Amino acid sequence: MQPFTYVRAADENGAISSGAAAGAGYVAGGTTLVDLMKLEVMKPSTLVDIAALPLARIEPLGDGLRIGAMARNSDVAYHPLIAERYPVLAQALLSGASPQLRNMATVGGNLLQRTRCPYFRDGAAACNKRNPGSGCAAWEGYNRGHAVLGGSEHCIATHPSDMCVALVALDAVVRTRSRTGERAIPIKDFHLVPKDHPEIETVLEHGELITHVDLPATGFAARSHYLKVRDRASYAFALASAAVALDLAGGKIRDVRVALGGIATKPWRSVEAERALVGQTPSRAVFQAAAEAAVRGAIPRKHNEFKIELAKRTLVRALSTAGEVA
Ligand code: SF4
Repeated sequence: MQPFTYVRAADENGAISSGAAAGAGYVAGGTTLVDLMKLEVMKPSTLVDIAALPLARIEPLGDGLRIGAMARNSDVAYHPLIAERYPVLAQALLSGASPQLRNMATVGGNLLQRTRCPYFRDGAAACNKRNPGSGCAAWEGYNRGHAVLGGSEHCIATHPSDMCVALVALDAVVRTRSRTGERAIPIKDFHLVPKDHPEIETVLEHGELITHVDLPATGFAARSHYLKVRDRASYAFALASAAVALDLAGGKIRDVRVALGGIATKPWRSVEAERALVGQTPSRAVFQAAAEAAVRGAIPRKHNEFKIELAKRTLVRALSTAGEVA
């Protein structure tokens, strides 16, 4: 690990001021960052510790809910209002990592999880995300875990978060503060596909601090479900996952959100699948048509073609559970 300066922020203004310095980065739970610092994949010259900031509350916001960026993943997952109004979020959080990690990891940190692409974590491998312009070892390498949606010739790394997939299905809004003011960023716009710059993963500016995540009141959040398929039952990243939220009225789908994980370079909202569902009577055939629409345009590499069929089946099953279709 390279030497760094440690700063403990006493308040938001102090954090933002310290975080704006060149080479500075924030640390909260540290569950991703410290690993990557040990591997020298991430090398901040200054670590600004924001763990003491009073940003861990989970509280009603109008008819919706506001979650502080420092709220621990386990506290969010077990909060009674989350379980009641936003079950997809609780299910996604509880499917991720291990209990110990969930007790440390924060909502803000989860939004900024880095990919688990093994070449990204291997300092000897070519990786445009870690070392821009060096190439992509996964393109011709072992790419079983990689993305079939949202990739570019420069990077096909999968986004690793479960929580973010659920947030996409809930129309969440990420609130930030920086020296230039505050922003409200819809979650669907927060993460970026790699295109020519895989090293730029979100729309955050340097030093911008995530303060909250807002969950609006919607007609579809309460009837929602997260399904994750992985190599083993716990402590594994998704090969495919689906977060779905359905608003049913008069036996038809009035509104819906569909988000996919494990198969794309960012938490992937499928408006194509949503279009195929709105106005339909829930049925297995309707869900299968939506799943076909969701993966249309998917581009597999040598080892990950299986993910396309897996993603379709995962989505059909998640919709069947949420829609109570046998
Ligand atoms: Fe790096 Fe992305 Fe290629 Fe993985 S897929 S080696 S993260 S550029």
